[in-house]
Amino acid sequence: MQIVNSTEDNAEDPPCCTQHFDSLKEFRSAGRGAWAEVPAHDWNDWHWQLKNRITTVERLRRLMPALTAEELAGAALANHKLALAITPCFFNLIDQDDENCPIRWQVIPRGEETLVSPWEMEDPCGEDSHSPVPGLVHRYPDRVLFLVTDRCAAYCRYCTRSRLVSNASGYDFHPEFDRQIEYVRSHRQVRDVLLSGGDPLLFSDEKLEYLLSRLRAIPHVEFVRIGTRIPVFLPQRVTPALCEMLAKFHPLFISIHSNHPRELTTEVREALERLANAGIPLGNQSVLLRHVNDDALVMKAHVQKLLLCRVKPYYIYQCDLIAGSAHLRSSVRKGLQIMESLRGHTSGYAVPQYVIDTPGGGGKVPVNPDYILSRNRERVVVRNYEGKVFEYPEAEDGTPLAPRPVEVEEPECV
Ligand SMILES: *Cc1c(COP(=O)(O)O)cnc(C)c1O
Ligand code: SF4
Repeated sequence: MQIVNSTEDNAEDPPCCTQHFDSLKEFRSAGRGAWAEVPAHDWNDWHWQLKNRITTVERLRRLMPALTAEELAGAALANHKLALAITPCFFNLIDQDDENCPIRWQVIPRGEETLVSPWEMEDPCGEDSHSPVPGLVHRYPDRVLFLVTDRCAAYCRYCTRSRLVSNASGYDFHPEFDRQIEYVRSHRQVRDVLLSGGDPLLFSDEKLEYLLSRLRAIPHVEFVRIGTRIPVFLPQRVTPALCEMLAKFHPLFISIHSNHPRELTTEVREALERLANAGIPLGNQSVLLRHVNDDALVMKAHVQKLLLCRVKPYYIYQCDLIAGSAHLRSSVRKGLQIMESLRGHTSGYAVPQYVIDTPGGGGKVPVNPDYILSRNRERVVVRNYEGKVFEYPEAEDGTPLAPRPVEVEEPECV
């Protein structure tokens, strides 16, 4: 029988780690930072946040005098590739004294973005080749990705759609809603529509409502979901009016995108609570990123903190082979170690599925640590999260083992 190496077990962390872990899970406000003078009604207004985004290297330098050489080089080039934009509330989460701040690595451009390897791509998941009409990706039998805009509240440096989002590289994204909707209407197998982009919640309530009602008018569309990073980048956008409007389109799910526990501030938690109270089931998609979250302790704190915000961790993505992202990519080996450190060690609800969105357009493939050690004629041999080995009786072809007569002892006569 195979011997299992006991894997990293952080069930009993030393006290210093426990303290670090607890502080990762604390809810803090993003605070006003450099915008202390701004009146509350402006600060809390999503239009104000959008208007005051940091979009130029000059502004970034003024707010962040200690930019590193890599960041300066990146910021100077950003608007030719993937635009620089950071909302003030998200910017305030950056620890300016820490060059390795996990927030910083996600949104501040770096010179390394110009380094491109031969295996990297502009469209790593082959979306354009699975697009029957502009803005619609039909890769799986019963569901479509419906891209609605190329704009986001802020731009993630590793974005898998950086070929089109922000339009800095001239992709010139023009979704044609009429054609997209007509495609869904004429393909009866499409029962699930995923609105994404860009960020659909950047639309006005009216525009979003118009789009949702047209989709909902199609009888075979059972399920609608929205992929958005707005609750994290711009929680002010999640107004009671927006939630009330969205609640008219149930069953409607929302997938948010958060990567590090520090992103889950009190403001973000409140925004998520408003969505959850509107009856919207919430999931989270994280991208495994070097310098950000490729660490078992950070990831565990993050998934537990998501549950506190009523968000089910849905996917962890291996970072796509997007051109110029090598400095942010972590390894599959690391991803698997992190998955091992979660399963069994924390609530099953907190454990997301780790996936590779396969290069070239094969879709998402789940990747899991091996818990099956062997199969033979009579049993499946598995190990648990502690590395202990167990057997489950089953024939090789998957049929349950045929019952064998049990020898029953004759009861003695009395
Ligand atoms: C991720 C994705 C979906 C949704 O996949 P689920 O596993 O159902 O969440 C649908 N279409 C495309 C093109 C996708 O990339
Ligand atoms: S919010 Fe999503 S679509 Fe927008 S830049 Fe980030 S990863 Fe890309």
